Amino acid sequence: MSNHTVEDFAIIRQVNVMRIKESKEQGQKVVGIYCTYCPQELILAAGAIPVGLCGTSEAPIALAEETLPRNLCPLIKSSYGFAAGDTCPFFHFSDLVIGETTCDGKKKMFELMQEIKPVYVMQLPHVHQNENSFNLWVEELRSLRTWLEKNLDTTITDEGLWKAIDEINQETAAAKAICDINQMNPPPISGLDLLTITWSRSFNSNKAEVIEMLKGLREEYINNTVTDNIGRPRVLLTGCPVGLGSEKVVRLIEEAGGSMVAMENCSGYKTLELQTERNQDDPIVALARKYLQIPCSCMTPNPYRMELLERMIEDFRVDAVIDLTWQACHTYNIEAHDVGRLVKSKNIPFLHLESDYSNSDLESLKVRIEALLEMVEK
Ligand code: SF4
Ligand code: SF4
Repeated sequence: MSNHTVEDFAIIRQVNVMRIKESKEQGQKVVGIYCTYCPQELILAAGAIPVGLCGTSEAPIALAEETLPRNLCPLIKSSYGFAAGDTCPFFHFSDLVIGETTCDGKKKMFELMQEIKPVYVMQLPHVHQNENSFNLWVEELRSLRTWLEKNLDTTITDEGLWKAIDEINQETAAAKAICDINQMNPPPISGLDLLTITWSRSFNSNKAEVIEMLKGLREEYINNTVTDNIGRPRVLLTGCPVGLGSEKVVRLIEEAGGSMVAMENCSGYKTLELQTERNQDDPIVALARKYLQIPCSCMTPNPYRMELLERMIEDFRVDAVIDLTWQACHTYNIEAHDVGRLVKSKNIPFLHLESDYSNSDLESLKVRIEALLEMVEK
């Protein structure tokens, strides 16, 4: 038995702040990232520590609104507010930051963030399967490699990159394996625990350790009989990223008697089927191929998201789908139309929610989620 618990994941963030502080004192560099399109492998191969900086808390939003428009996605405002107020230890310790041109709000916010820290904004093409887009993306990753080498005063070797690719591939496979056990009925992992595991794992900079933790906890779940979650409607959550601090919809699903069996968003399953293939000579080409497949709504068109959702609805035996859009996120908001069409074609109840990080709409969200769960046939 491995003795790993969800609590080990719940404290990763806190533990890792101390570790990063110590590593910084010993001269190691830290690179902050905001998006799953950012190839962490380049940062690891540069000998630096990658840390996720996406804001999931309401606390820094008021400060952000002194600079940014109020009518902007809360994730962007929260992320910027943490940076402007220097209230996130991970941002504080970051020597460099990598942003990207996923959505308009983010890419314009990064222009302002450049006044606080050195920010490299990756120019992400918005078409999955197009030779020109692919070539552009390969060149962009080469530029990022050069920028990291210059700013971290190091050399990123192909050998180091392949080693980092292997590590991230293993971590991704281990994360997928633990999420997949919720295909069982009843699902062994509650929605909040699933979020705690998948969101918190990204804060552990020791990849070997987090892989071992994921495998160990999976074993614990497999070996223990599940008595909770029996007969609860099985809900799939999709849409904008959710983390601890912005988990109100996950909480409401569980409180209303549902069981969130899977999340398709970036804190969940969106990238977990993607592995960097080793069938190329050039690791940058291999990385470009993987990352350009990520089914984010900033891609146009974005067929892989519908394919992934369709598979997940089957594999996780889903009874209802909730699509959560953060206010002012135009790409996910518009794509909710296609998601709704897909879900309804399966004769499964569907609910599209638009919200922010505040608790002002808790009551109306609760009523709508309860109504959705009542539609699930017993
Ligand atoms: S939803 Fe899109 S923009 Fe946001 S973190 Fe995921 S890939 Fe990046
Ligand atoms: S949730 Fe939407 S608007 Fe917000 S950062 Fe992600 S893609 Fe952009």
